Amino acid sequence: MKKLVVITGASGGIGSAIARKFSEQSHPLLLLARKLEPMQALELPNSLSIAVDVADHDAVKAAVTKAEEQFGPVDLMVNCAGLMLLGHPESQAFSEWSDMIDVNIKGVLAGTAAVLKGMTERKTGTIVNISSTAGRKTYDLHSVYCGTKFAVHAITDAMRKEVSGSNVRIIVIAPAMVETGLVSHTTDPQIVKDYNSWRNDIHGGLPPEAVADAISYAYNLPQSVCMREIVIAKTAQGD
Ligand code: NDP
Repeated sequence: MKKLVVITGASGGIGSAIARKFSEQSHPLLLLARKLEPMQALELPNSLSIAVDVADHDAVKAAVTKAEEQFGPVDLMVNCAGLMLLGHPESQAFSEWSDMIDVNIKGVLAGTAAVLKGMTERKTGTIVNISSTAGRKTYDLHSVYCGTKFAVHAITDAMRKEVSGSNVRIIVIAPAMVETGLVSHTTDPQIVKDYNSWRNDIHGGLPPEAVADAISYAYNLPQSVCMREIVIAKTAQGD
């Protein structure tokens, strides 16, 4: 049997596309998100779907342990779960900032903590952290979202160096706009409207499958080759 792949944020958007991609390659899967039903609805063979909040380290660890008992050690962890709440900094609720920090930073750390020790002991494994082009440059109304994604870039690069001697790869991928429900969680309707108007200007973002394909390419390179950072955008998106 192929090795176990874990995907957080697998209940929709990019995470579901990654799940389908690795299932096509016959990997057993652990799918994690809060909503169970959309993960089960993917109907992927050799997959275990568990409802967790990724900021809950103990719950993520327990889910990984359960999947490893069934399918063997995790070889790929994709930390995909994320939350984008755009807002004006002078009026945005503090709870929205806090929620983004919990999901986008603590969630990546929880996924990492659940697998990294085992990977370094086995001297193999790959972690892919989904950041954003908003982790490389700032955009208006994205300040805290950008802060969380800059953190993902920084944590990934530093940890990658720290574990490089253990033959473990840690990769960051920075997509630009992708066609998912990500913006729908933003609570300011005018910001959502403006974002969708920008999206229409470029006739939509990348299909989520393009991100899944890029991750699959990087993962399927030899373990001795680490594609450290992937930046991917629709050609028509200039910014
Ligand atoms: P979606 O909103 O479609 O999906 C987000 C996923 O994250 C869902 O599966 C959701 O599941 C999960 N999630 C959110 N909060 C939690 C939580 N507390 N615990 C567990 N899972 C959680 O967005 P995308 O697919 O677009 O986003 C995936 C990643 O890609 C994110 O990290 C995002 O920042 C990044 N990204 C997206 C871009 C885009 O334009 N779409 C561009 C660049 C990066 P559930 O609600 O069931 O918990």
